[in-house]
Amino acid sequence: MPTNSGTCLHGKNSVLLLPLVKRCISLLQTCASSLPKLRQIHAFSIRHGVPLSDADMGKHLIFYIVSLPSSPPLSYAHRIFSKIQNPNNVFTWNTLIRGYAENGDPSPAVALFREMRVSGLAEPDTHTYPFLLKAVAKMADVRLGETIHSIVIRSGFDSLIFAQNSLLHLYANCGDVASAYKMFDKMSERDLVAWNSLINGFALNGKPTEAMEIYRGMQMEGIEPDGFTIVSLLSACAELGALALGRRVHVYMIKVGWRGNSHANNALLDFYAKCGRVREAQTLFHEMGNKNSISWNSLIVGLAVNGFGKESLELFKDMEKKGLPPNEVTFVGILYACSHCGMVTEGFEYFRRMVEEFNIVPRIEHYGCMVDLLSRAGKIKEAYDYIQNMPMQPNSVIWRTLLGACSVHGNSALAEYATDQLLQLEPNYSGDYVLLSNLYASEERWLDVQRVRRKMVNDGVRKFPGHSLVEVGNQVHEFFMGDKSHPQTGEIYAKLKEMTERLRMEGYIPQTSKVYVDVEEEEKENALVYHSEKIAIAFMLISTPASSPIHVVKNLRVCEDCHVVIKLVSKIYDREIIVRDRSRFHHFKDGSCSCQDYW
Ligand code: ZN
Ligand code: ZN
Repeated sequence: MPTNSGTCLHGKNSVLLLPLVKRCISLLQTCASSLPKLRQIHAFSIRHGVPLSDADMGKHLIFYIVSLPSSPPLSYAHRIFSKIQNPNNVFTWNTLIRGYAENGDPSPAVALFREMRVSGLAEPDTHTYPFLLKAVAKMADVRLGETIHSIVIRSGFDSLIFAQNSLLHLYANCGDVASAYKMFDKMSERDLVAWNSLINGFALNGKPTEAMEIYRGMQMEGIEPDGFTIVSLLSACAELGALALGRRVHVYMIKVGWRGNSHANNALLDFYAKCGRVREAQTLFHEMGNKNSISWNSLIVGLAVNGFGKESLELFKDMEKKGLPPNEVTFVGILYACSHCGMVTEGFEYFRRMVEEFNIVPRIEHYGCMVDLLSRAGKIKEAYDYIQNMPMQPNSVIWRTLLGACSVHGNSALAEYATDQLLQLEPNYSGDYVLLSNLYASEERWLDVQRVRRKMVNDGVRKFPGHSLVEVGNQVHEFFMGDKSHPQTGEIYAKLKEMTERLRMEGYIPQTSKVYVDVEEEEKENALVYHSEKIAIAFMLISTPASSPIHVVKNLRVCEDCHVVIKLVSKIYDREIIVRDRSRFHHFKDGSCSCQDYW
């Protein structure tokens, strides 16, 4: 029978090798965090006769490789593992499973677990499941999670708090909130980790009200929230544009004296900026006693993306006066601000300073900002040349910026080129086909429109359904295109009809050229009326007090027709309307938009 050390496998020689293996292992301990050194010792051991299959040497090598501080080479660890004959040490299996759970693609962890069970070489223990479940949580595969859950129950590990916490985290992370809650409900002992997992699960899966409920329950049980709780509540609210809910977290922070916590304050600042409440973000920023560079950056970027470019640049000047060093995030904000204000020369000057004065190596985001800067200014050809001369491969964001600019400024030759690049990088993103097809449609090139449409069908591209989120009285409402599932559908559609009539009196003509050609003219108009943001705005007009601002979060880019309509609605109904779409903010007021019709 082979023992744990595995040395018996090699007969008499292994006894002689024992001191050598021991020496190599203690060498490994001394240079645990350096891959080249680990490789050297591995080579040394082989040169001196330690067989590749030595289980003890393998166990330690795998452990030190997996524990390397940054991106451990798991394929190397796995190669060593596969050389061990009959690996019967559960620690070795667990180490490799942990490695996969914590780095990169987690799926080999599951394959290893299956191999372990089928081979019967080692029994999964209390350490196996938390790592395995972590891997499955990362894969967000709820079916697989359920299978492993039943194995956990059969193995009798389901009463252990860390197994329960791992399962809870798994269900929450997969968005299976019901199972997460069931798990949570069964737990006899709930620590802060469990509460946080559940709150985060609800928060990230579009159930902020439930997240707040759980949070209240947590308070009632006398469990103190930590920064993680507050930050996950706020980031959920930011994601959903749930302004009222986030404000309640803010009130709570004041009540319990959390205002001194810079981590939570920065999350709050970010929340206000992402909800388009730049003035509140500013007030908070000025009240904060413990501003750090994250706070400065949040506000600089927040101002810039919300269309307050000049103020963003002013704030940067204050930051410089205070002697605070900007970082790459600061410059994303600055370049974005320049782009938005049409300050091309200044943008290039800031880019130069970033590199020369602050020694920041520009990332692809910064190049993206420069392409946006040129594109927005209508310098399409220059933007194209800039892309060609970038020191790195342009990504899809950059090509999409150029494509967007081409469709605004009507350059179909470059649009085709950009679309070709995009189809190679991200073949299934429907928005790109739509932009190109819209551009052809606006030039009345119907054959080309049909060609793009056919390609979309042939390539199996599915259009993402657009949806818009709005919040009324702590409740987030979601609307899809042509949605009729809301309890107040009747009133909403009556309001939409009234809106369209009032808009027509103001001279509004639907931008039907942007709708596919093979739809009848009247249907085209209907298709436009039923875009989710229009439905959401109609709902807000009947559900909120006159002249209160309306916030909409949209998952796709706002279309041209909706943009015209929302501008007019902001004027006719005297409402400030703030729309956060896929790429930027639109602050509509008195018939105009902060994006200056470029987005
Ligand atoms: Zn639209
Ligand atoms: Zn706009």
